[in-house]
Amino acid sequence: MASVGAEFPAYVVRRDGERLTRGVEGMHLDDLPPGEVLVSVSWSGVNYKDGMVASPGNRVARATPLVPGVDLAGVVVSSADPAVAVGSEVLAHGHDIGVARHGGFAAFARVPAAWVVPLPAGLSLRDAMVLGTAGFTAALSLDELERHGLAAGDGPVLVTGASGGVGSIAVVLLASRGYDVVASTGKATEHDRLLALGAGTVIGRDALAEGPGRVLGPERWAGAVDCVGGATLAQVLRSLRYGAAVAASGLTGGSSLETTVYPFITRHVALLGVDSVRTDEERRRAVWARLGGELRPPDLDALVEREVPLSDLGDALDEIVGAKVRGRILVRPRS
Ligand code: NDP
Repeated sequence: MASVGAEFPAYVVRRDGERLTRGVEGMHLDDLPPGEVLVSVSWSGVNYKDGMVASPGNRVARATPLVPGVDLAGVVVSSADPAVAVGSEVLAHGHDIGVARHGGFAAFARVPAAWVVPLPAGLSLRDAMVLGTAGFTAALSLDELERHGLAAGDGPVLVTGASGGVGSIAVVLLASRGYDVVASTGKATEHDRLLALGAGTVIGRDALAEGPGRVLGPERWAGAVDCVGGATLAQVLRSLRYGAAVAASGLTGGSSLETTVYPFITRHVALLGVDSVRTDEERRRAVWARLGGELRPPDLDALVEREVPLSDLGDALDEIVGAKVRGRILVRPRS
């Protein structure tokens, strides 16, 4: 257990109006927000939201100074809740973590006990952060589509933003369940990797815009996982098959959605919103249990782009907002 006065490393973002500074600083346990559980953080990972928190000119961060890191996994060093044992391995993500209270880019994090997810069987702490919020969101998207009725054998399932965190894990999860996965990516260099991850076909981002100028496109997709939003989501909606659904989680391609009601009222399609932040805890734990069990990707390392210490986080955060990341960047807050 760290002594209360001891200093530990943390990556801190400070905002003053439009000015933003960021870098590794020394923190103390007293600087951490309230909560019943203190975690020694072994691993975190870089998510798009972390990139937004660490960039000027957006309103994602709701505190300053702030340790970003929406994901964390580690060992409990103290707990005021009997349901969370000292020495147990846990993960936490979502809620206000890394957005309105200090997150996983530090050697220690303090969180409310209700937000703690016991490390599921089948995953190490590192495995859990290879998946992280991105993997959880991909699994939730799959869950939403299957609740809506999608089943393997129904036809091609599209994944947009396929080279990123949510997208690449969605490709792996869908392929392992026998779906015919079509991966859409803006990166020509990523085609071979996406085929290796399980995509049956890889298409360029522009290939979605078939039949331009028409309200409805050809009925192509039995389902879709979209983490891009904007014009891409509009294209997906107009090319879903009758009765199909798209699970939408992201906005890397823009937050506004220009569409018509025709896909909804003439093709009976559904737009399923996916949210990993306020998922109720029972479903959160159930999805994680599936990620460690029947959904566990056999080769998690194939999803990892690289590991970084806190001192190298700046580049990783810039790369994720610049759409340059392939898969997952892991963070080692203790090295
Ligand atoms: P990544 O940066 O890892 O992946 C996003 C991918 O989107 C990129 O790799 C790229 O894929 C594509 N992309 C980027 N910029 C554009 C653009 N201008 N136009 C079209 N496509 C683009 O991010 P994550 O996977 O971590 O997150 C993806 C999105 O999902 C983000 O918006 C994030 O905020 C959101 N998200 C939402 C969650 C929720 O709970 N709703 C949880 C987690 C993430 P390619 O080059 O292959 O096309």
